Amino acid sequence: MSFFYPPDKADEYSQFALGRIRESGLLPSPENYELWFIYRSGSNPLMNKALDQILANEVKPTNEICKSIFDQFLRADREDERVRSAGDKIKKTISEVNTAVGSVREFAHGYHETLEDVGEKLKDEKTKEEIRAILGDVLEDTREMLDQNTHLEVLLQESAVTMEKLHRDLEIARKEALTDALTGLSNRKAFDHEIEVIAKAASAKEGEIFTLLLMDIDHFKSFNDTFGHQVGDQVLRLVAKTLKDGVKGRDFAARYGGEEFAIILPFTHMESALKVAEFLRVNVAKKEVVNRVSGERLARITISVGVAEYVKSEPIENLISRADSALYAAKHNGRNQVAVAPVSTAVKKKAAS
Ligand code: GH3
Ligand code: MG
Ligand code: MG
Repeated sequence: MSFFYPPDKADEYSQFALGRIRESGLLPSPENYELWFIYRSGSNPLMNKALDQILANEVKPTNEICKSIFDQFLRADREDERVRSAGDKIKKTISEVNTAVGSVREFAHGYHETLEDVGEKLKDEKTKEEIRAILGDVLEDTREMLDQNTHLEVLLQESAVTMEKLHRDLEIARKEALTDALTGLSNRKAFDHEIEVIAKAASAKEGEIFTLLLMDIDHFKSFNDTFGHQVGDQVLRLVAKTLKDGVKGRDFAARYGGEEFAIILPFTHMESALKVAEFLRVNVAKKEVVNRVSGERLARITISVGVAEYVKSEPIENLISRADSALYAAKHNGRNQVAVAPVSTAVKKKAAS
């Protein structure tokens, strides 16, 4: 586990985790244990907040809730660990190959000397027996040289296979580390990176622009309370898919937090961005949530959207905070609507300077 806690607390955290698993009738899995251990340690405040929010209305945590929280907050740590362990394996393989190459090189050096020595010895006239003895030595060294080379060849082949597999594993781990496990959308980490890259590009080039959409599902808490957390998860997947299907090309959709999503629209001004936002809002509102088992129609879902156009050289936190304020305004005005973030004079002044 890649977090720190006072060692003298481990016993207390462990008892707590086991207690929670027992009391709530949870599966005694490593993931559930890790989740409650970390919860008790308080080392992941965002996770605790999300869990507390969900549990405020649920009597007992279920395996589904725990899995959803684990996927959201702890799985990335696991991926990091996988990447680290793959890195260790690569180091080990490289060191093995280095040692083998080193010893072959050393032996080849000795072999070269043997051959030179033989050349010297053969300069003078020799008897048949003497020549046979000299060649016998060379033959022995040659055999050993071949053995060493074969060993190195096998080792190199094996290490090539290992490296290829590690490369594939790392690629999978890298993708997983940037993907939200529940919805399959890019996660917050990927979003933070993407917006940084896009803002940098937009700041560097004259006339380049982009727009940020922040969206939040309306009254999702009461949706969860009415239909259960599992149906809530189904809704998150449905909204994610609607957003993903509704944008194209270089547009970037991510799960920003619990029931919040973010979309970056590169090369897009406010006017077009508003059309996209409205299109997405309508598409989500059109969807019907159906109980998979009974086929019963459950409810409509809606989203509120805040839209902010990037102002050159504006700090990213500022852009996000403006989009967030617009989202708040959309909520305040009655939800299921799109609101525009005004550009403050301070931001305008900074951009102009
Ligand atoms: P508002 O319209 O103001 O946004 O109201 P709201 O109820 O959507 O907002 P609030 O922030 O009060 O509640 C968000 C809820 O989202 C609470 C939490 O249970 C739920 N939630 C967050 N993450 C997940 C998740 O991964 N799965 C499920 N099913 N629910 C989640
Ligand atoms: Mg929210
Ligand atoms: Mg909400």
